[in-house]
Amino acid sequence: MTARPGRHRTAAALTATALSVAVSALGTTTAAAAPQHPPLTRPAHTRTVDCRAVRCVALTFDDGPTRYTAALLTTLEHSHALATFFLIGPHALQYRADVLREYRDGDAIGDHTVTHPHLTLLPLAQVDHQIEAAAQQIASVTGHRPVLFRPPFGAWNARVREAAGTTGMAVVMWNVDPQDWKHHDPAFIDRAVLAGVRPGAIVVLHDRYATTPPAVPRLIDALRARGYDLVTVPQLFATSGGLHSGVVYHHGPGP
Ligand SMILES: [Zn+2]
Repeated sequence: MTARPGRHRTAAALTATALSVAVSALGTTTAAAAPQHPPLTRPAHTRTVDCRAVRCVALTFDDGPTRYTAALLTTLEHSHALATFFLIGPHALQYRADVLREYRDGDAIGDHTVTHPHLTLLPLAQVDHQIEAAAQQIASVTGHRPVLFRPPFGAWNARVREAAGTTGMAVVMWNVDPQDWKHHDPAFIDRAVLAGVRPGAIVVLHDRYATTPPAVPRLIDALRARGYDLVTVPQLFATSGGLHSGVVYHHGPGP
């Protein structure tokens, strides 16, 4: 897929109201670091899917980009499937071409901190830094601040949620986990996702393991055979009120 002219401007215009307000407020304090900060939600060329009416699933990939990400993007592009990526800030700087490819494909991009710590064990100032610095690193590549945040290890508490909200981000968890970090077997990953998936599911995967991208081609085919539409996290919530900063989401709506 290729970028279309004017998509950035149009994507900004399509932004959900709640996040627009949150990010506009942020602009007063972060303008120097990120002069352009329309939220990265739904690129202009992605479809509107009503996930209250059709079966949707959001595949999400954490910890990248890595040397395995390019092959995964090739799979997604050939399948015309979209996904959501939660990036570690320094990885975004190291693999800029992959980040831009994700963005131009229409994939959603979220924040997954700078050093992948257990945020619930850190002083609040360090929590803020982990989220904000990664957001700035991602924005330095895409030109857009992320509006999605996923805490490393899924470890969050009220302070983490508030810190994400302060930076204008929704906290995106999951409700299907094939534990690809433990089971380095594409066939196992496919079976585990298919056993747990239901309409509105958010699936957590990792593009840091060599064995995860090879699971994705058959997984996409099997999900589509079961009637699922593969969407990004913002698409998943687009017709049910959108995503709101400082709110924790584990799954989207379903028919
Ligand atoms: Zn992670």
